[in-house]
Amino acid sequence: MILSWLIIVVLILAGTYYLMNAREIQLFGGITSHVDTDEKVVALTFDDGPTDKTGEILELLDTYDATATFFLIGKEMEEHPEEVAQIIEAGHGIGNHSYSHKRMIFKSPSFIEKEIRRTDALIRKAGYDGEIDFRPPNGKKLVMLPYYLYKHDKDTIMWNLEPDSEFTSVEDKVRYVADHVEGGSIILMHPMYDGSGKEMKAVEGILKELSSKGYTFVTVKELKEYEQD
Ligand SMILES: [Zn+2]
Repeated sequence: MILSWLIIVVLILAGTYYLMNAREIQLFGGITSHVDTDEKVVALTFDDGPTDKTGEILELLDTYDATATFFLIGKEMEEHPEEVAQIIEAGHGIGNHSYSHKRMIFKSPSFIEKEIRRTDALIRKAGYDGEIDFRPPNGKKLVMLPYYLYKHDKDTIMWNLEPDSEFTSVEDKVRYVADHVEGGSIILMHPMYDGSGKEMKAVEGILKELSSKGYTFVTVKELKEYEQD
């Protein structure tokens, strides 16, 4: 008896853990980790910030004629309004990455609502009028967050290539993306708090490698339009 209860508890915990981190499924609403297309288009996505690294990132994107999507943190937007304006001005996509970057699992509905609404309001105040997708802090979501997003018609944007989770060297990160990229890939990078400059080098390497393979870099919103049935 005790053993069967134990098995049930372990199964529930394993299921919860799986669901919390899953990139392809969630309980409610749309979730996108990539787009199915034969076209050579990819979306480069940057999480966190904005920080004073923004100008450097925008210059790099400009060099490769690339547009990207920035999932910004509300609190950081308040501290770096000029950087937000620069991102919008350059025509990139902006997504909501919560206000305080606290994990949004086992949190109350009012906490979730406040985090998302506050950040959406900052994005609108900055003059961005595109659709605002959401990316969960640390990619974690369970029940209440997907439910809120579903109720408010917001898509959850995940990714299918995240070199930072598996590699530390610039070369390995670039090679991993170059080897695994496909039309419709969504790539996650973190150049905003890049003290060593290594992440920026990795972003540059990816822009260079993928451009030479004939890929174009578009926003997540544009990428979704390539979805084939
Ligand atoms: Zn983040």
